[in-house]
Amino acid sequence: MAVERKNFRRFTYAEYMDYLKPYLTKVKFSQVHVHGTWKPTIADYRKATDKIKIIQAMWRFHAITQNWGDIAQHATIDPDGYIWEGRSLLQAPASAVGYNDSDDDRIHPFMFEMIGNFDVGAEKLEGTQLATAVKLTSSIAALWKLPESQIKFHREMNPGKTCPGSSVSKPAFLELVRDWREVEMNPNDANKIIAKWLSPAWFAAATKAERDEIHRLANELRKASGQL
Ligand SMILES: [Zn+2]
Repeated sequence: MAVERKNFRRFTYAEYMDYLKPYLTKVKFSQVHVHGTWKPTIADYRKATDKIKIIQAMWRFHAITQNWGDIAQHATIDPDGYIWEGRSLLQAPASAVGYNDSDDDRIHPFMFEMIGNFDVGAEKLEGTQLATAVKLTSSIAALWKLPESQIKFHREMNPGKTCPGSSVSKPAFLELVRDWREVEMNPNDANKIIAKWLSPAWFAAATKAERDEIHRLANELRKASGQL
């Protein structure tokens, strides 16, 4: 079998949110599955001069060696906090046996990997990588209206594993997911600002450019309050 080199795009968290938007009507995520790669490690990633090769190596291992059809995960969070594209969001993941919901009904878990070996004594999930993981988990749960109980660590689905890593505490992770949501803008406040201040300004605007700018600001408020 010829080994193709599949291409994968790399997004900032904000870019990934824009990429996700159209999928709200196309797929229903039923859970968020949190994984750590164990291998590649953060050190492997740091050493690689061409970072996409790390993603492509995972793809080759999953798609060809394991025969899972494609890379297992929907997204990969690298040590710099970027989000790499994975398999199609419309496809069920290869996350954990019995938990993939792989019938073709466009309802399945969202699965992401964080690059690193997060077992005790190895590498640390921290900084911008942790921030992206928390924000992504929080956003998927908010957009698809999932309760906290639907956020799953791999080890909860397969007790033989430590994944995403024995140093990653589930309660501590969930606490960050909760706190991140609290710092986001409340939708009622956003809508109040739009109705009371931005709408009158829009009608009073003298030029189309002004109206477009007010429209853009209103959409930023909607985004910040999770209304997109
Ligand atoms: Zn895992």
